[in-house]
Amino acid sequence: MSKGVWVFVEQKEGELLEASLEVISEGRRLADQLQEELSAILLGYQVEGLAKTLAHYGAERVYLAEDKGLIQYNPDAYTAILAGLIKEHEPSIFLLGATTLGEDLAPRVAGSVKTGLASNCDKLQVSEEGLLLQTRLCYESKVHATLVCPKAKPQMATVQPGVMKIDTPDESRKATIIRVNLNSYIKPEAVRTKVVGFIKGDPKTIDLAEAELIVAGGKGVNDKESFQLIWELADHLGASVGGTRMAVDSGWIGSERQIGQTGKTVSPKVIISCGISGASAHIFGMRDSKTIIAINIDQGAPIFKLADLGVVGDLHQIIPALIDRLREVNSRESEDGK
Ligand SMILES: Cc1cc2nc3c(=O)[nH]c(=O)nc-3n(C[C@H](O)[C@H](O)[C@H](O)COP(=O)(O)OP(=O)(O)OC[C@H]3O[C@@H](n4cnc5c(N)ncnc54)[C@H](O)[C@@H]3O)c2cc1C
Repeated sequence: MSKGVWVFVEQKEGELLEASLEVISEGRRLADQLQEELSAILLGYQVEGLAKTLAHYGAERVYLAEDKGLIQYNPDAYTAILAGLIKEHEPSIFLLGATTLGEDLAPRVAGSVKTGLASNCDKLQVSEEGLLLQTRLCYESKVHATLVCPKAKPQMATVQPGVMKIDTPDESRKATIIRVNLNSYIKPEAVRTKVVGFIKGDPKTIDLAEAELIVAGGKGVNDKESFQLIWELADHLGASVGGTRMAVDSGWIGSERQIGQTGKTVSPKVIISCGISGASAHIFGMRDSKTIIAINIDQGAPIFKLADLGVVGDLHQIIPALIDRLREVNSRESEDGK
């Protein structure tokens, strides 16, 4: 019988992704409800030190696969290892973060082990029968659907980044490390892809959920022409552009840039919210941003309750002044660099 909750954890250059800490925390909650063990699956090279951190977040076992060939994500190799481990140990639940990597890897693994997959879930629960209830938005974010996978195992889901709460780590927790013998799972001829390098995503086109810096605009920007100010400021900062549903409904940005309850959940290092009132449906999608800077003409706007830094004033004056200043700083820096 399938048993145990498994979480694939992602690391980048030896650091665990926040999205993975969210999934491992959620995995712990599910394992507690099911009274089953939580295991983390960690792939990479010289990453054993991270097993300790995973234990602190509640993993009881860490399956560790280390090899130079696993430094970068390789779809064939990663799929072969995960599918092999699943076939051997038959976990009941298998979770991944709905990151770019997770969304590429999860369907490959689900296909290999012939199970279902619910992607980009924003809620996971356990039913009375012990089944995983996997809730996600569908039909262009108009309805929430709850899916179950009653027959095939494991029950697989990817989890929307920025939604699940990260638990406080408990340093007294320990995990058993199980070293994965790669030769048992990967046949060299089955690895058809070779990673030749990584090109950092252009902030203008990357998925907002992955953006580190965001300039967001709302109804206060006023019209499509003025929304160019948001793009221009973002360009000078190397930031991505997002906005409220008002900005989307007004046709100023595409719906893939909507932040909020029925849009993207973002958690950048910095978000600059311009002409945004701070309605709860919008806040839902950006409240986990590390630093929130708000520009709003109305001192009483709710966004200021959340903001780390608030600028009261007309964005049509503030943003051009900011752009001028950035131009000055950037040109001085490039002259110094000559
Ligand atoms: C079911 C449902 C789901 C929703 N989902 C989402 C969602 O996912 N995302 C989302 O964003 N919304 C969502 N909404 C809509 C949400 O409730 C708000 O209506 C919306 O977020 C408000 O957008 P806004 O802040 O751009 O506009 P407004 O609330 O109109 O705010 C505009 C702000 O701009 C300020 N302003 C005006 N002029 C200037 C100026 N010159 N300089 C500086 N500031 C200025 C104003 O003081 C005001 O605070 C949803 C609503 C529903 C019912």
